[in-house]
Amino acid sequence: MPAAAPRVSPSAKKPGASSPGGAKGGASVAQKALQKLGLKRDIDLALHLPLRYEDETRIVPLANARDGQMVQIEATVTASEIQLRPRRQLVVRVEDDTGNCELRFFSFYPSHQKTLAVGARLRIRGEVKGGFWGRQMLHPAFRLAGGELPAALTPVYPTTAGLPQPYLRRAVVGALARVDLSDTLPPGTEPPYARFMSQNGLPRLFSLREALTFLHHPTPDVALSTLEDHSHPAWQRLKAEELLAQQLSQQQSRRARDMLRAPVLRVPRSRDGALPLHEQLMAVLPFGLTAAQRRVGEEIAADLARQVPMHRLLQGDVGSGKTVVSALAACLAMDAGWQCALMAPTEILAEQHFAKMIGWLEPLLAARGRKVAWLVGGQKKKDRAAMLALVETGEAALVVGTHAVIQEQVRFKNLALAIIDEQHRFGVAQRLALRQKLAEHGMEPHMLMMSATPIPRTLAMSYYADLDVSVIDELPPGRTPIVTKLIADSRKDEVIERIGAQVQAGRQVYWVCPLIEESEALDLSNATATHADLSEALPGCMVGLLHSRMPTAEKKAVMALFTSGQMGVLVSTTVIEVGVDVPNASLMVIEHAERFGLSQLHQLRGRVGRGAAASACVLLYATNDSGRVGETAKERLRALAETNDGFEIARRDLEIRGPGEFLGARQSGDALLRFADLATDSMLLEWARELAPVMLDHHPELAARHVARWLGGKSDYLKA
Ligand code: ADP
Ligand code: MG
Repeated sequence: MPAAAPRVSPSAKKPGASSPGGAKGGASVAQKALQKLGLKRDIDLALHLPLRYEDETRIVPLANARDGQMVQIEATVTASEIQLRPRRQLVVRVEDDTGNCELRFFSFYPSHQKTLAVGARLRIRGEVKGGFWGRQMLHPAFRLAGGELPAALTPVYPTTAGLPQPYLRRAVVGALARVDLSDTLPPGTEPPYARFMSQNGLPRLFSLREALTFLHHPTPDVALSTLEDHSHPAWQRLKAEELLAQQLSQQQSRRARDMLRAPVLRVPRSRDGALPLHEQLMAVLPFGLTAAQRRVGEEIAADLARQVPMHRLLQGDVGSGKTVVSALAACLAMDAGWQCALMAPTEILAEQHFAKMIGWLEPLLAARGRKVAWLVGGQKKKDRAAMLALVETGEAALVVGTHAVIQEQVRFKNLALAIIDEQHRFGVAQRLALRQKLAEHGMEPHMLMMSATPIPRTLAMSYYADLDVSVIDELPPGRTPIVTKLIADSRKDEVIERIGAQVQAGRQVYWVCPLIEESEALDLSNATATHADLSEALPGCMVGLLHSRMPTAEKKAVMALFTSGQMGVLVSTTVIEVGVDVPNASLMVIEHAERFGLSQLHQLRGRVGRGAAASACVLLYATNDSGRVGETAKERLRALAETNDGFEIARRDLEIRGPGEFLGARQSGDALLRFADLATDSMLLEWARELAPVMLDHHPELAARHVARWLGGKSDYLKA
């Protein structure tokens, strides 16, 4: 079929004359296309909802058809000819009792011409152009008139090449007729849209079958806007069911975890007058813990004292002091003779992050004849072998490194606690790998994940429902608030002047260039150019460059110069996003701030304001000649200038960018909800969360059927 074929394929066949598959070859192509769309089971087809609807329930008299309106008419052909100018086209005139209209086709077949012969009476659907003096339709769909008008709107489905709408429609109708949609909600547990129903005079709640039947074939009197914005009770029903499936699967996985065993790690009593490790650590810390740090420390200690593996997320804004809390947890494990692993997403971060912690712990461990091992990807073979031996014999009480620590063939003597920094959630595969580290003991290590990106409540309740969450909601005392300024990039020169002043005053400055994922090369050249500009504008000041492509050794050298204070300005791509701790840095400049997520910007901003000096963050946003793009960007960024509260910022991010921002690009693909929207459906989520445990306890068969229906084989959580 040529590319310019009519939008709705003009079928000259009589209604109902064609078989579902059409020609043999066509059927297999369409079947493959169905598979490609993931429409394998009947339930998949039943849940494949229309993009929009067409109203074929009415015949509109031509006199009533308004310009731009999509209409269905019945009319008789009065003329039909092929015109060659300005290009070859089939022009057909039709009329009904009230008026006439011209149909134009730029691509057509002899069979079309035959159907469109003078005298033929046709049912035609298309968009009307022009008014009383000259109505026209371009490439309308048509067929012989007659046949009953459908009672419901016609669904238009998302589809793909080789899968025509009529085929898909028939497939859906067939699936709906076959599929088991018997209710899985226990009696009396209807979702909370009942009030909406009575307020709108709707007679009853939709069952799943009613909801799906309606959404595929709505009655023409429906307010289309309630289907578009998903507020219609049929939509509510679907969203509620989807959220319930997700809650059931998460809570099931939590119950499965409760059956697993982990080492019981209790606060040890002091032996022979020697203080336990965690008390020794407290004694060497140059500060006292905040109340929030103490509280979350107790929550973690209570988990570790149970024989069920801990699975806890420690949330706290940048600089809230999560590392020390995790170190104290590690002490509990190490004191009892077990091993601990400490992991960060990258090598440089692992080093940065834990340098201080190792500084505190290494001497304390040495006094007990134990060591800290360091494991990263690019290590020298000999060093690595030595480290691996320390880990295997158990001489290393603490193993620090990247995630490679658990992914590779590292054998632990007895790993009891894994601490994972700057990661919201450990994937299923990683959890399984971790479990293997303690397989000999028939146990699973405890797991503590730390993250500075606060997860909005609804997200925590849904995707993270099988995680316990502790929150450090207080910063250590003595921090000065960071002042955030939005500045158009046309005023870059002023900003550079300000950098000069800061450096003069002995302070240090970060300059962040955005990472453009599609074009790492461009991103790099941009950072390099900025580095050159700043070096020139700031004579006598050392300006460094850090980007993700650099060899690790070089990165380390640059970081060392900045950390020691010799380097005044550090230009970098977002590699400094997490973890760097240089208290003397007091100014953060972020170029093209509009390209970042709000939470990401908040993280970056947290790199300054770590010392006593007044700190500032400058968000440079791009302006075009008219300044208009700049205005929208500025509007969005204003949230950051208005608040320092990471949770508030995360909430706005969820509204603007959706959950992908928090889930991480890789996981978001299949984890995302298809129907429900966490930003708007918190009531339904609440309902699902409360119902799930009741169903698992009292209606396990319904629960199992519900999960199988909605998640099919995708219920990964059950495996880990
Ligand atoms: P984050 O939560 O972002 O990982 P860190 O653990 O890196 O924060 O802590 C930030 C800085 O605050 C570190 O220099 C750390 O030593 C310091 N710190 C942690 N807790 C306290 C506290 N209670 N009082 C003062 N400083 C603290
Ligand atoms: Mg940290």
